[in-house]
Amino acid sequence: MTQKTNPSQLITLLAKKAKDYQQFESEEKLTWCSGCGDYGVHSALKRALTLENLGLQDVLHCFDVGCSGNGSDKIHGYTVHGLHGRVLPLAAGAALANPNMKVIASAGDGATFSEGVNHLIHAIRSDYPLLFIMHNNENSGLTIGQASATTRKGRPMNGSPDGVTAEPLNPLELVLSLKPTFVARTFSGDIGHMTEVFRKGLHHNGFACIEVMQVCTTYNKATPQNWYWDRLKKVEEMKNYDKTDLWQARKIAEDLDKQIAIGVLYEKPRQNFIEGLVPRQKVKTSLVEEVRHSDVSEIMRTFD
Ligand code: SF4
Repeated sequence: MTQKTNPSQLITLLAKKAKDYQQFESEEKLTWCSGCGDYGVHSALKRALTLENLGLQDVLHCFDVGCSGNGSDKIHGYTVHGLHGRVLPLAAGAALANPNMKVIASAGDGATFSEGVNHLIHAIRSDYPLLFIMHNNENSGLTIGQASATTRKGRPMNGSPDGVTAEPLNPLELVLSLKPTFVARTFSGDIGHMTEVFRKGLHHNGFACIEVMQVCTTYNKATPQNWYWDRLKKVEEMKNYDKTDLWQARKIAEDLDKQIAIGVLYEKPRQNFIEGLVPRQKVKTSLVEEVRHSDVSEIMRTFD
């Protein structure tokens, strides 16, 4: 069992930056169920951005469809709500076009490991420079509790009331098999831990993949807050844990039942996608700066 991350240092830092934090506050009503892990994730994300001194103009938030995607208007700034399962190509395109922008993609386990699993594979291989927050609540909550690829075997769900028959997918086992450069896991009930992990992900100069083990109070009653607290283990508290050792990370990521490892499990930066593009290596401008501006007012008038 692990302890909640001591938030006192973070709170002191944040108190000095209250105004910076408030810039991310949206006036939209929060619509998640009571106790949903999405509240914590959003709070941690805003804290991480604040502590990294990022302003509204520095960040693009890309959201997939799902309960996490309903956060697209709950954070103030540049946000895009994309198609189901397609948040990674959307975010990758933005990150490649404008490397001066921090791009953050958010998606749930339903979108990521069904419609979007192909995009995840290529985003990791290509090491696109963006932060990916994968909310894993082990079901598709927005479509009222259908099984996802991470739902545990035998668990009754809406749409499979006699229990899921397929084997569950362990997200980080898949991610770590693809030669990633940054892999972390955190928990929606520990805002301090999420904040620190998100901050580390924001510093990574490639594809930072972060799995949030997330509570779904409405459709996943088998793994509530306490279930996680009894099992979480921070890698930073493990003796001799070497986050540059891929095999150690793969071994420790396996267990999702008895001892669930959280923290930065693996980190080994390499030349990212943009840095590897030979035709771009001597170019000082970004693609968005090179776009020719065209007058589209005539076309737009045809939609009136
Ligand atoms: Fe959150 Fe689950 Fe409710 Fe969706 S269904 S808002 S994930 S608690």
